[in-house]
Amino acid sequence: MTMKNEGKKTGLIDSWQRQINYLRISVTDHCNLNCIYCSVGTLPHLSHDDILRYEEIEQIVRVAAAMGIQKVRLTGGEPLMRPGLSTLIGMIVRIEGIDDISLTSNGILLGRYANELKEAGLKRVNVSLDTLKADRFKKISGRDKLGEVLAGIEAAHRAGLEPVKINTVVMRGINDDETIDFARKSISDGWHVRFIEFMSFGTPGTEAIKMVSTQEIKESIQSLGKLEPYTGLTGNGPARYYRFPGAEGTVGFITPMTEHFCHSCNRLRITSDGQLRPCLLAEDEVNLKGPLRNGASPDDLKNLIQQAVALKREQHQLAGGIAPETAMRPMCQIGG
Ligand code: SAM
Repeated sequence: MTMKNEGKKTGLIDSWQRQINYLRISVTDHCNLNCIYCSVGTLPHLSHDDILRYEEIEQIVRVAAAMGIQKVRLTGGEPLMRPGLSTLIGMIVRIEGIDDISLTSNGILLGRYANELKEAGLKRVNVSLDTLKADRFKKISGRDKLGEVLAGIEAAHRAGLEPVKINTVVMRGINDDETIDFARKSISDGWHVRFIEFMSFGTPGTEAIKMVSTQEIKESIQSLGKLEPYTGLTGNGPARYYRFPGAEGTVGFITPMTEHFCHSCNRLRITSDGQLRPCLLAEDEVNLKGPLRNGASPDDLKNLIQQAVALKREQHQLAGGIAPETAMRPMCQIGG
């Protein structure tokens, strides 16, 4: 009997009886933006040798899939900065048990790669976009690239990477006056917009950025009509979706601060330097890269994955306003 079948019998269940079936993989810590909440530009990059090779990622996903992982999302850093990403996608889609592969991107390079990604087997894409104003885009991200991102979103639609979801982190006094413009896009352009509460986890230089609650965001867009709950959108995450009457698109809300969703957490993360991380907001990690490079067998990897699942805590502390125990690793390494 194969390991896959053994895994399917038990699934991957953590100490809180949550089914873990979703793996987010950061494929690089490099990014072509330098957003104010991420500050990747101030950090030294990991060396080429520190980053997991595609063959190593494939090995891990193969074992994880046999244990019950069904869905993979590639992120970063900016995942499209990693040369040959379509090759990795092609390697992952061929793994038995993986039925969904998606990407989180800032969209700048989607105009160039959307078709190739689709052909390689990518199902869908989330694009991060915090403003629709060109000058503000430059202030938030450090680069004058709004046009490329909008073109990238169009390219993703044309390539059929559906649903394309737009992720907008709402920050007080920075872009919170644009929530209504984003929400209107769900009506005028069929966009699926997701408003994300800014998480304050102590990245140096981000202390002044303040979150805006989902409650406030909902109030700021209520003049557009009554939001009706909507359940028809594919996804693996914690967003709650709504639609305005007659809109093709949707408006979603992700509430890590005001209403944590740890009870439904279904995920593990692999950092770009090969650490398996049970929770974005806790510093526990299980080293996969070291053992892999020392010849770990599939059974060794299986044990390491089980260790990480056993480390999953019941919930993170940030929601109660408690800072993480240590300053967090930057998002670009963990994978946002
Ligand atoms: N480069 C890719 C992108 O732009 O989508 C993937 C990595 S980026 C770190 C992933 C997501 O994390 C982005 O949507 C970003 O807005 C979000 N993010 C980063 N820091 C955040 C924070 N402190 N609170 C909420 N979201 C954050």
